[in-house]
Amino acid sequence: QRRVVVVGAGMAGVQTAVALREQGFDGTVTLIGAEPHQPYDRPPLSKAVLLGTAEHSAFDVDFESLGVELRLGTEALGVRPADHELDTGSGPVPYDVLVLATGAEPIRLPGAEGVPGVHLLRTLDDAERLRPVLARRHAIVVVGAGWIGAEFATAAREAGCAVTVVEAADRPLAGALPAEVTAPMTAWYADSGTELRTHARVERVEPGAVLLDDGSRLPADAVVVGIGARPATAWLTGSGVDLGPHGEVVADASLRTSLPDVYAVGDCASFPSGRYGERLLVHHWDNALQGPRTVAANILGSATGEASAVYDPVPYFWSEQFGRFVQYAGHHTGADTTLWRGDPAGPAWTVCWLRGDRLVALLAVGRPRDLAQGRRLIESGPPMNPELLADPATPLKTA
Ligand code: FAD
Repeated sequence: QRRVVVVGAGMAGVQTAVALREQGFDGTVTLIGAEPHQPYDRPPLSKAVLLGTAEHSAFDVDFESLGVELRLGTEALGVRPADHELDTGSGPVPYDVLVLATGAEPIRLPGAEGVPGVHLLRTLDDAERLRPVLARRHAIVVVGAGWIGAEFATAAREAGCAVTVVEAADRPLAGALPAEVTAPMTAWYADSGTELRTHARVERVEPGAVLLDDGSRLPADAVVVGIGARPATAWLTGSGVDLGPHGEVVADASLRTSLPDVYAVGDCASFPSGRYGERLLVHHWDNALQGPRTVAANILGSATGEASAVYDPVPYFWSEQFGRFVQYAGHHTGADTTLWRGDPAGPAWTVCWLRGDRLVALLAVGRPRDLAQGRRLIESGPPMNPELLADPATPLKTA
């Protein structure tokens, strides 16, 4: 019996175990996770779990009946590829196939570590610590106007907290979207009663306050740091696996790593996108759902000599912020042409990105139908008519 060991019991790890069984794998599957909790889903942590409208977000998966052995509260410490062994806090674990799915961890704010009242938002424990902070309607300073910062600010405003978001760049989501697209989003902060301070660098965090480099002092009962995440791969140092510039595991188009019989999937790994002609490191939920199916297919196929399945998705993610449902599909670069569909000052609009006459990406605010139709057009890649695209009254379709 072949032994598959999956490290990381988040979305990607759990889905790998599920996909293996769905595709008929009959060897042993062991899922190893550092956190003590029953495996859970992260998106609700900045939404319902934070507000207390959901107690938890545990996956609805019956591991026992799937024949998946769960080893929770167990940290992987290293891999010895020559021995086909994983080292963990509770001893070595032999494998025939190993899947790395250790996700990402939040980047910490230098100097803020250990200061009382400073929080991150990545784990269920983080969300549980923040829930009473929201319930007490505290004054909160959020560092970082990215996806997590915006979602946290939304929940905190909903709970009645005074919220200031401090952002070093000139606008929210500066790393993800061009200025013309984030311009209407900036107004969402003000509309919700959230103060957004751009060009603002944190000089120091002390108990009860955040000090900015322009000399201002923001009173803060709590500080939430949302300045990005990086792949959780420090434990792999010395194992010989190839890591990329962001510390991510470098996987190939089949999601295999540079080590024999070792795959990597989810937030911890990058893969070459044939569709976009560049390597992608995706930190979104859908990638942790789709990637595992390819991994499972290739684990099964490697035993029978079947051709490798290639992972080449149209990336997708969503965000719920300031009463809006924001969805993005595809991947664009600064060289692509931006095309508006609808009025950005209004409640619902879409932005399309074209490379030549092909649709490569799309961001939809409150227009889920655009997203669904656009995603299919990105997938199939037919030539598009820009005039029709720009008309929000016409469904997204080819010329
Ligand atoms: P993770 O979910 O990070 O899971 C990895 C697991 O591995 C963790 O449990 C970790 O403890 C464990 N681990 C790490 N190192 C070790 C080790 N050495 N040994 C053993 N175990 C280890 N995406 C969207 O598309 N839309 C959203 O609205 C959205 N909202 C989000 C809200 C929040 C608050 C967060 C944090 C993320 C959100 N995301 C969202 C992103 C999405 O949740 C992630 O992309 C997804 O969780 C990635 O899954 P993963 O399994 O690769 O990694």
